[in-house]
Amino acid sequence: MTTHQAPNLQGQRFHRLLVRARTRDKRGRTTWLCTCDCGSELVVPTYRLLHGQRSCGCIMREHTANVAAKRAIEQSKPYVLVAKNGKWVRIW
Ligand SMILES: [Zn+2]
Repeated sequence: MTTHQAPNLQGQRFHRLLVRARTRDKRGRTTWLCTCDCGSELVVPTYRLLHGQRSCGCIMREHTANVAAKRAIEQSKPYVLVAKNGKWVRIW
């Protein structure tokens, strides 16, 4: 037994990441084979799982895409103007 044992994260879920198996990197440190909800497989070091990694990166990509899509929709969406309290306001 080593005194510096990594916690067993196998089977645990970190938001979108499901930890499937313990692996090791080239330096012998514990890493984890994870499957992301988007279908990607990736190897994640213990500290990254324990310190906030929540996806393979797709959350950030989706977020960026969503913001872009939302902006595109807002810019192209027809709207009506109505008078409200003497001011013209947009109603979607
Ligand atoms: Zn993903």
